[in-house]
Amino acid sequence: MTMLEMRIEIWYRIPKQNEKLKKYIEKKFYKNENMRWSMGKEEEKYTKDASMPSDLKYLNRKRILQMIRNEQVVSVNDISEATRISRPTIKRAIQSFEEKGLLVSVGKGSSTNTGGKRPELYTFCCEKVILCIYLEKKYIHFAILNMKNECIREKEVLFNYEDTFEKFQHILRHNIYLILQEAETSYEDLYGISLAIGGFVDRKLGIVRFCALAPEWGRNIPIKAWLEELFPKQVIVVENLVRIAGGSLLLEEKYRSKRIVAIYTEEGISACYIDGEVLTGRNALIGEIGHMTIDYSDKEVCSCGSRGCFERMVSEDRIKEKLKENPKKLPCSTMKQWIESDELIRHLFEEADKGDELAKEIVSYVAEMFSLILKNIAINFDPEIIVVQGKYAYAGEYFESELKEARKKAGFFPEETASKLYYDMRPLRELQRFGGYHELAEMFFENPQFYEGTTLE
Ligand SMILES: [Zn+2]
Repeated sequence: MTMLEMRIEIWYRIPKQNEKLKKYIEKKFYKNENMRWSMGKEEEKYTKDASMPSDLKYLNRKRILQMIRNEQVVSVNDISEATRISRPTIKRAIQSFEEKGLLVSVGKGSSTNTGGKRPELYTFCCEKVILCIYLEKKYIHFAILNMKNECIREKEVLFNYEDTFEKFQHILRHNIYLILQEAETSYEDLYGISLAIGGFVDRKLGIVRFCALAPEWGRNIPIKAWLEELFPKQVIVVENLVRIAGGSLLLEEKYRSKRIVAIYTEEGISACYIDGEVLTGRNALIGEIGHMTIDYSDKEVCSCGSRGCFERMVSEDRIKEKLKENPKKLPCSTMKQWIESDELIRHLFEEADKGDELAKEIVSYVAEMFSLILKNIAINFDPEIIVVQGKYAYAGEYFESELKEARKKAGFFPEETASKLYYDMRPLRELQRFGGYHELAEMFFENPQFYEGTTLE
């Protein structure tokens, strides 16, 4: 059914007396035909006393299942309190989920304070698993997750990306079978595979236009088609790793339906643009903020051919260079012990917070560079929230206060409505895992069959 057909369908199913809901839906669907339909506060308000069309039943059931998935155990009361959906509706939904094998009763909980009946408790259950693969420098990372987003098995396999693509295919295939075996999962129970790759990835076609870790593999690698041949029954997603990590934010309620830019900082810097869903752009170029020009007179030429790209201006090499710039300063600075550290950036923030003068000087410079990129992002996308992930997420108090000052210089931005800045210090691997889960679980739980009536209806 197309969105237009669905709109007409819903239109005729809503009872006449509920004009407000009709108007609301009409407005929303005309505004954006591609909008994913989710039950928000506003819809809920209008639907409370309306007789329930089946699309709303679908949305209610989806919310109920979502809550059961998020909790260890829940009772009908718990769900009713959290969702404000009526108890009979919840009971019918639970019965239906039980029949479909999506939840089981785990016995009775303790009685309520008022001494009422002991409530029956339920927990989500599902045999299906998801495999998330993430290509990182020197490694291929594998993780098997269940449908509750719990990691069952995880492993990293050393890989030299200077090896051929054929060798990579061999290692990947071998280790997929191996990890399924180790996790004691059957091939049938594998719902899907998500593969996160750095570089230009055309998600729709499943083609890697350019692999950042292995430029030697050439252009336009049809990696999804190859995986689909190996796993014809599974859902396969091949996507850029920055967009996978950014998508992990959508697992959290506070980020859904927000305009977000997630800045991913690893070797290079890139960003994931989110507007209710992760945006992919036409050429998968969207969010390549690392190559925004910050200083065209800079001496270093970036791999993209330009000068003064943001990621070059704040790269680890640039910071090292700046630390060594004045030979008198480094020997007197606490930074001298960290100059060769793998976590140079994190130490730089820490030492600046402790008051080291050289560290402070360089953190001020980095803050100024960030203020410029934030300004460019604001002009170009105007997000509500900006989330920094990866090594720059360790930014400390000194960085934050310097950034605040630097942002003030861009005078025409009203401070009170400027994008909120969050620092997500979770390891990138974890974000990749969550993002891969988000991708596939979204599709899995879209299945309308899960939300159809019970045998009694
Ligand atoms: Zn560049």
